[in-house]
Amino acid sequence: MEKSSNHFLHTSLMFLKGVGENRAKLLAEELSLFTFADLLYFFPFRYDDRTKFHTIASLTEDSPYVQVKGRVHSIMSAGDVAKKRLEAVLEDETGQIKLVWFQAIHFVRQRLKENIEYVVFGKPNIFGRNFSMPHPEFEIFLQNEVQNALMPVYHSTEKLKANNLDSKGLAKLIKNLLELVKEKISENIPVQTLHENQLYSRINALYGIHFPPNTDILYKSIKRLKFEELFFVQLKLLRLRSDRLTKHAGMQFNKLHLHNLFYNEHLPFPLTNAQKRVIKEIYKDVNNMKQMNRLLQGDVGSGKTVVAFMAMLMAIDNNAQACLMAPTEVLAEQHYKGLTAMAEKLGLNMALLTGSTKKSERSKTLQSLAKGELKLITGTHALIEDEVQFQNLGLCVIDEQHRFGVAQRAKLWQKQQRVYPHVLVMTATPIPRTLAMTLYGDLDVSVIDEMPAGRKPIKTVHRYTNNRQQIYAFIDDQLRKGHQAYIVYPLIEENENLNYKSLQEGIEILQKQLPHVSVSVLHGKMSSKEKEASMAAFTEGKTQVMIATTVVEVGVNVPNANIILIENADRFGLSQLHQLRGRVGRSDTQSYCILLTEYNLSSDSRQRIKAMTETTDGFKLSELDLKLRGPGALEGTQQSGLVELKLANLAKDHDILQAARLAVIKILETDNQLKSVDNAVILEYLNVERNDTSKKWGRVS
Ligand code: ADP
Ligand code: MG
Repeated sequence: MEKSSNHFLHTSLMFLKGVGENRAKLLAEELSLFTFADLLYFFPFRYDDRTKFHTIASLTEDSPYVQVKGRVHSIMSAGDVAKKRLEAVLEDETGQIKLVWFQAIHFVRQRLKENIEYVVFGKPNIFGRNFSMPHPEFEIFLQNEVQNALMPVYHSTEKLKANNLDSKGLAKLIKNLLELVKEKISENIPVQTLHENQLYSRINALYGIHFPPNTDILYKSIKRLKFEELFFVQLKLLRLRSDRLTKHAGMQFNKLHLHNLFYNEHLPFPLTNAQKRVIKEIYKDVNNMKQMNRLLQGDVGSGKTVVAFMAMLMAIDNNAQACLMAPTEVLAEQHYKGLTAMAEKLGLNMALLTGSTKKSERSKTLQSLAKGELKLITGTHALIEDEVQFQNLGLCVIDEQHRFGVAQRAKLWQKQQRVYPHVLVMTATPIPRTLAMTLYGDLDVSVIDEMPAGRKPIKTVHRYTNNRQQIYAFIDDQLRKGHQAYIVYPLIEENENLNYKSLQEGIEILQKQLPHVSVSVLHGKMSSKEKEASMAAFTEGKTQVMIATTVVEVGVNVPNANIILIENADRFGLSQLHQLRGRVGRSDTQSYCILLTEYNLSSDSRQRIKAMTETTDGFKLSELDLKLRGPGALEGTQQSGLVELKLANLAKDHDILQAARLAVIKILETDNQLKSVDNAVILEYLNVERNDTSKKWGRVS
């Protein structure tokens, strides 16, 4: 069934007391539980509080499952034949509550006796004016057998329940298992780390999470197990990083000629302090003989491009080449134009390579790249094709990281056989710090957390479709002042035809309302030539309005555009809305973002749109997005394996993540190969218990 191994925790559940072949099969099919380890790490999803008795008078409709104690009277059948039920009244010193059963009536009737004290457990409901408790569990109260604990509740299924493996049945198995393994299970986190972070031992935490005597022990157990989870994720990422730093020597860029010239004489604007700081961070990286692998995070419009360009100059100043890779042709084109303008001032050539570069031009470009005559190039994925060979690639900048997978990044590095080029990954997706630390844990992170001076915050409003007239009038007014506008339609993923249709309708409405306005169109059905022409017309100010599906989402930079109207805004995720909004607010004129929806909105959509109108801070928005949708919805997380975290919640467990990360850093600082006696437990766990066959940690080559 499972991969073979000698470790006792990999024993099939078949061999656990109370399981056997049939149930083992069911556990595997229904809950994907195969081995001892699987069951040990199958945690309760809820606990029923049996630690105290509630008085009946203190119950409210909002009470969770509670335990009460009292005497039963007035047992009676009620309802008609079809909907028969059994009722009884439970009374303590403070009040009464009705107990109701709809099923197993006969069974309950036989066991329930008047005037005996019972412990009753259930969820109070309000029905009419009376409190009742449907289907409570009950036991005769015996002074010395009080449960006095939190009862674990496990997920089960109909099939399992039919085989006596309901929550209680599962609890019993887990108890057997814990007893069986408690002497043998080994710690997997070094003692020192446990001490420093005041964490329970592994076995205590496992007992504590399954059978917590009280909430204090429960929380401490959960904390320890979350820590464990995050500790091993971080260990993996940070070891990747340290491998990279120790194994891959980097080119050293220590001469700064053109870089300084550009800084002193050709900068079109003074850099923000954040930009300066990041440039320093990059310089420190490329000047220390190690390969740089840095993530540059900066909200839309924070000015990442010029930073990238100045980093590219560092490469050129040291006789190396530099490339910038963008996720779409539109963006590559735009970068090409922007960078060329800067490069020209320094007398540097720049080339563009995309899927639609003409053959003759392509071969010319490839040749001069291979010879090293061409120092700077911008492009799309076309840059990572095998035929593209550099003479000496020193820096690769990747814009908008989330569109490129890790594998693609690796492919780029390999272009330079002797020494890996430095890599700078830029993203405008404001990943919450928690997530960045985990997701890009193998990268170093720089953040541009400051906008260029003079920017006015974008005014964002929510409007309904019946306001269309006023909105068009407002747009018209802005266009007459010489500004430009975007109108954006949501992308309906599976249906390109539908996109096209809604876009066409949009164009018709616009032409009817504002017949004098000139329009550019951009959508997925257009060829890249058409897209390019359309973009160019808008960028050069020949057209006043750009109507588009979400192709304009990333990176497009037309500072004169100051309005973005987003149709069906409720169809977009928060981070997408934020990206779109970032298309405006790129100069010192006041910009506007209008979120258009119908009246009827889900509460989630309403929350998203409200958040957009309340803040322009991308980091705040992405924190909220993470809370609303969970990390799985954020781009980039899918491949990371992080969505598989069982206990830890990246939106909430920032502190534990931070602690786990620091602990790993501390361990690796002194014992990079985990060879010390203290750290033996880690290797033992990874190599034997985790049995991660893809990678034996002790002997990473
Ligand atoms: P992003 O980080 O979204 O890629 P860009 O690099 O496209 O942002 O920059 C957005 C706009 O701001 C561009 O028009 C750019 O020229 C301008 N810009 C960048 N840095 C500064 C600065 N320090 N001062 C003023 N304008 C700047
Ligand atoms: Mg950009």
